[in-house]
Amino acid sequence: MKLPTIIAIDGPAASGKSTLAERMAAKLSYLYFDTGVMYRAVTLAALDKLSSVDDESVVTRLANEICIDVHVPEIMDGRKNTVLLDGVDVTWRLHEPRVDSNVSKVSAYAGVRIAMTEQQRSIGSRGAVVMVGRDIGTVVFPNAELKIYLEASAEERARRRCLEMEARGEKVNYAEILASIRRRDQIDSSREIAPLRPAEDAVQLDSDNKSIDSVFDEAMKLLDR
Ligand code: C5P
Repeated sequence: MKLPTIIAIDGPAASGKSTLAERMAAKLSYLYFDTGVMYRAVTLAALDKLSSVDDESVVTRLANEICIDVHVPEIMDGRKNTVLLDGVDVTWRLHEPRVDSNVSKVSAYAGVRIAMTEQQRSIGSRGAVVMVGRDIGTVVFPNAELKIYLEASAEERARRRCLEMEARGEKVNYAEILASIRRRDQIDSSREIAPLRPAEDAVQLDSDNKSIDSVFDEAMKLLDR
């Protein structure tokens, strides 16, 4: 395969998409871009500025007003990108439990998706990008030359999320994390607009019981097809 302009990687929460995408991008000298941070940034802005995220039109207006900037990390504290929200570094705040519990609601709003999709297309149109999300292969770049849909069981994903949080010194509760992952999967895959699902021409990989090295090798082999 000629090197693809865009590699789209979709899949549910904590399936290992970001790690895989980051490694592929480093190997190919491509830009790694995680679209989840954009939906998280809108959610954080709404939680900070509004009393709730329930009013679709108010949240949509806010999504069009805020400035989300994603950079390569200049601080080496385990972050994969630095995310600025109206100029303020919110990288770690994007993973607060309140963001986790509200992000699927916010990202189901049509106007929020339109605003984010537009920005993602503009970033991707420069090429040489590995873009990660839920709808990259189905909606954002349906013509991407390589699409990967990465799966893993909810239990395995919750275990991984716990390990990541423990490594950052955060308190973890496996049952709560598993419930939150299941809730997000349910909302993300049943929403009307851009639901989480594999594109028809996506290659489906399962990361259950596999090391990141073996998933990475499988994914890189797809470039030799
Ligand atoms: O990938 P991450 O877990 O950070 O994504 C957070 C949430 O953002 C997802 O649960 C989903 O609701 C939303 N999202 C989305 N479309 C994308 C990326 C993320 O709806 N392309």
